[in-house]
Amino acid sequence: MPEVERHHAIATFRDGSELATPWWRVRSGADGPDLLVLAAQHGNEVQGAEVIRRFMGECAEGLLCGTAWLVPFANLPAIRHRRNSILLGPEEKGTDRHRAHNINGQWPGDPEGNDVQRLAHALHEEIVRHASHVIDLHCWNKFWATATLATDDGGESRRMGEVAGTRFTWWRPAAAVDPPAQVRDVVMARGGAGMAVEFAGQYVMVEREVQTGLRTVTNVAKMLGMLPGEPELPPDTGIAVTDDTTVVVEAQCSGLFVQAPDLQLEDRVEAEQSLGHIIRDDGLATEEIVAPVGGWLWRFGSHRPDPDVSLADQHPYSQPGDPMASIVTG
Ligand SMILES: [Zn+2]
Repeated sequence: MPEVERHHAIATFRDGSELATPWWRVRSGADGPDLLVLAAQHGNEVQGAEVIRRFMGECAEGLLCGTAWLVPFANLPAIRHRRNSILLGPEEKGTDRHRAHNINGQWPGDPEGNDVQRLAHALHEEIVRHASHVIDLHCWNKFWATATLATDDGGESRRMGEVAGTRFTWWRPAAAVDPPAQVRDVVMARGGAGMAVEFAGQYVMVEREVQTGLRTVTNVAKMLGMLPGEPELPPDTGIAVTDDTTVVVEAQCSGLFVQAPDLQLEDRVEAEQSLGHIIRDDGLATEEIVAPVGGWLWRFGSHRPDPDVSLADQHPYSQPGDPMASIVTG
């Protein structure tokens, strides 16, 4: 039987206090890959934590080879702060003035750095440096569909991306990185493999997203021979998102966008199908919004640039140019 261990990675902060990050290790007892799955590097991106909890159960029952390194709460201070990163206040983005406190970009960390860099260092030394493969679970805003962020390295990272089984896959070429970097870049830079998943919706736990994520992580483990069976790839998954295949539907008038009630992210839409309507604020006319092309709903719902942190940017009041949907024609 696989062996489940619970550990704590201890980070020592500048003021001398310690942070204990709990994590699981499941050992099969046989040689094989060291698969790291981590979630919630950003404190408002929590869906991956439940994915990892369920995946731990699968590993505990059936891990055939290798070791699973499972970190559901990669950034506990940010989770407790209930925002993307520590120090952020209302409507403040992690890419703003506190960039050095955004842990996603601080790997492999620094034992003499700020508290976030110290946390990354502690996790790196105890966990990340052992990983041969990494899956980094994030969430983006609720208007954007779940996607695998895959790297085409022509090898293991590509194979991981190919079995992810999400509707959408966003490929990017392998890039040389200079640390500090994102966690998967650090693993890849020393010859490992990696990918990330972005689930739809921050601050929330959505069952459909969790199920998708569990299938993705399990598929990778199956591909690596760590779990029994073949990866499960539903029809119409792995659709590549590219600029060339993405058509953005923008508001042409101002008013309130009402989404078609029977549509949600990832759905198939046909050309001329209704995506909803705008109730115009200049005369109360109803403007039907139709899909200009057939394809898959990649983004859906009126929003402005910062829906991650701003409720106002989630408001359905639209003005000309606001994106209401994106359709990938693949
Ligand atoms: Zn994130």
